[in-house]
Amino acid sequence: WMPVSIFISLLAAAFISRLLTRMQTSRYRLANALKHRALTLHYQPVVELQSGRVVGAEALVRWQQSDGTQLSPDVFITLAEQTGMINELSRYVVDNVFAEMAEWLREHPTQHIAINLAAQDLTSTVLLDRLNELCDEYGVAHHQIAIELTERSFAQPEITGPILARYRQAGYPVCIDDFGTGYSSLSYLQELDVDVLKIDKSFIAALDRKRVTPHIIDMARSLELEMVAEGVEDADQEAWLHRHGVQYGQGWLYSKALPGPAFIAWAERNLGQ
Ligand code: C2E
Ligand code: CA
Ligand code: CA
Ligand code: CA
Repeated sequence: WMPVSIFISLLAAAFISRLLTRMQTSRYRLANALKHRALTLHYQPVVELQSGRVVGAEALVRWQQSDGTQLSPDVFITLAEQTGMINELSRYVVDNVFAEMAEWLREHPTQHIAINLAAQDLTSTVLLDRLNELCDEYGVAHHQIAIELTERSFAQPEITGPILARYRQAGYPVCIDDFGTGYSSLSYLQELDVDVLKIDKSFIAALDRKRVTPHIIDMARSLELEMVAEGVEDADQEAWLHRHGVQYGQGWLYSKALPGPAFIAWAERNLGQ
């Protein structure tokens, strides 16, 4: 017979130790993937709705598994955040974006690549310094590298705010990602002074039944933010968004995320003159 409290403690200890082991294993696998360059980048075009012309792309990371399948970033980004590997991952993404896309960006000075960052990337200027260095080295203008942050990154604005301000001062456009799905209070939006608002795809699907989407659009307009609609899948959505004054779209209607060379080929056909 064992006192209940001891029993519960043992159970909790066993549970926590299993969880830690699992995280250790995953952390090890992710570290290995970075080392062996098993993470690849895909680029999804962003188009101007009015003209259908490409204006740039968003870099999206993929984890190639040994069996040939790809692991979704939705799974391993969270893991990277929890195991303290996100800074390394972001650095890897940034370095690879330049290795793959700098030449194309130099040839097309109005095009941009957007890179997803995590809140933890905004606790120091290490990544910002790296970006500055790479732009210099490769001759890419700062306005051609946008950074995307989800609303969660603004949960502690006293920490991330000052670094974010330095990104903007340096001329990197800042986008709020997945807008409308987090809990960011609207007052942060005003204080943080971002450039672009990306409307989450949940507000784009079945648009005619969405009552809040027009309000999100109105608010973005009154804050003088540019808007990108995410997850545009059909022509009706595109027409609706265009009619409501959204300038840019991204989604399967235009293209899925493509490997670098395939994106460049796609973009060359959609540059306009
Ligand atoms: P996100 O930033 O919101 O990226 C958009 C996601 O929507 C991508 O999923 C994209 O493939 C998907 N998508 C694009 N067009 C459509 C469409 O028309 N319909 C639908 N239903 N979905 C569409 P993906 O590539 O699986 O990325 C998932 C999330 O992982 C991203 O969401 C982003 O939050 C995160 N992520 C991806 N790459 C990175 C990265 O390099 N760093 C960080 N920190 N996060 C990343
Ligand atoms: Ca994004
Ligand atoms: Ca998004
Ligand atoms: Ca998302």
